[in-house]
Amino acid sequence: MRVAVFQIDGWQKEYLSAALVKFGHEVVCVSSSLDAEHLPDSGTEAVSVFVGSSVDRKVMEALPNMKLITTRSTGFDHIDLAAAREKNISLGYVPSYGENTVAEFAFGLILTLSRKLFPAIDRIKETSDFSFEGLEGFDLKGKTIGVVGTGRIGRHVIRIAKGFGMEVVAYDAFPNKKLAEEMNFPYVPFPEVLGVSDVLTLHVPYLKETHHLISNDNIFQMKKGAILINTSRGPVVETEALVRALKEGHLGGAGLDVLEEEGALKDEMGFVLKEKSANEESFRKIIANHILMDLPNVVITPHNAFNTREAITRILDADIQNIVSFAESGAVESPIPEI
Ligand code: NAD
Repeated sequence: MRVAVFQIDGWQKEYLSAALVKFGHEVVCVSSSLDAEHLPDSGTEAVSVFVGSSVDRKVMEALPNMKLITTRSTGFDHIDLAAAREKNISLGYVPSYGENTVAEFAFGLILTLSRKLFPAIDRIKETSDFSFEGLEGFDLKGKTIGVVGTGRIGRHVIRIAKGFGMEVVAYDAFPNKKLAEEMNFPYVPFPEVLGVSDVLTLHVPYLKETHHLISNDNIFQMKKGAILINTSRGPVVETEALVRALKEGHLGGAGLDVLEEEGALKDEMGFVLKEKSANEESFRKIIANHILMDLPNVVITPHNAFNTREAITRILDADIQNIVSFAESGAVESPIPEI
């Protein structure tokens, strides 16, 4: 097959292309994302993308020979699944590649906030000032963590939280009673998880049901002084609501690996000049994100929770497996589920 691989560089490019070439595929690798303005050769039969690409109907129409789309990620909200299914294009993803990886990162964000690590490190680097003025934090032991979404990542978060001696409460649209018994935590209704959690951490997929799961309607139901951690997807949290809750001192902080309109933030000039769908709402979100970036009790990372050598190797192996199994049998190893 003629395979175009997007958003890939360095050792990952060598690793993936060597494996696919070994299986007889013709491979082109580029560092840019795939969207209607960055298209591969029209003869391309398979594309491998990552979050940040936008594989919409226009892209599919521009690639009439495309039979397979794989994403090297767990989330797949950057692919128009309905359009792909209508066009009989197969869809592969990476359902699991190291849920510990994202869970560990979530705790990185939690500790950064609970122990004020960023200002502590920054102060020493910038001024060599060893005072601990203003750096008092809080213990995790004995605090309550609310885990929203107890799937692969959420359950690792629960395991780690127990190691810190935290009380765990959880909410999931599809509670897993067996897991709750095995790991000894209670499922509680959503308003309760909001009301009792000192740390609220989100591990749900981005679906229409989880759009603005945390919003102006409920953010003030969160416990006063709580910190919010989002490593799931940006639009699970309504940015303007978060800004309000932080500015008004209701929340104690936020640790965000994902943001609404994070794609636009990566290339703001390009977004302003080229993005035809840019509207007032998008601009409001971008401005709200800039306000967040400036707040001292907010830490933001660039959608980096997945990014370890071990996790990436597992992601690449799964993507290779998806492409190779599709080429050999017409069925991908891990098809994107019908939702
Ligand atoms: P998963 O599918 O194993 O678990 C998701 C859980 O959310 C499930 O238990 C499901 O029942 C629950 N859920 C679904 N809809 C819900 C709703 N409306 N309300 C409450 N709960 C709901 O997924 P996972 O592997 O744990 O990953 C979770 C998300 O993390 C992914 O979808 C992805 O968006 C994000 N993610 C981010 C990164 C990163 O680098 N920041 C990396 C990997 C995954």
